[in-house]
Amino acid sequence: MSETKTRRTEIMIETHSLTIIKMSQRTPTNFVYCRNCQMKTAFFGASAATLIFRVTTAEIERLLQTGQIHTNEGSALCGNSLAEYFKNEVRFVQD
Ligand SMILES: [Zn+2]
Repeated sequence: MSETKTRRTEIMIETHSLTIIKMSQRTPTNFVYCRNCQMKTAFFGASAATLIFRVTTAEIERLLQTGQIHTNEGSALCGNSLAEYFKNEVRFVQD
C-alpha cells in the first residue's frame, strides 16, 4: 500500500487595481458636477484620458457615441464614467 500525498495549492489572483490621479494646478482639470453620475468628479480632456486609461482617441470617440462615458458642455470627459467603464478604482486627488 503506497502512501498518497495530496497537495493542495491555492492560487489567488488579485485583479483589483487602483489608480490615483493627481491633479496639479497646471493641469486644465477641474471638479465638475456630472449630470449623468449626479456627483462631482474630475473632468479632463480626451488626450489626458488616453494616457490615463491607455486607450486610443478612437476608442474614446466610440464610447462617447455609445454613451458609455459622459461629457460636459465642453469637450471634457467625466472621470467617473471613464473609471467605471475601465473597471479601475480611480481616486482623483487635487494638489
Ligand atoms: Zn459622469
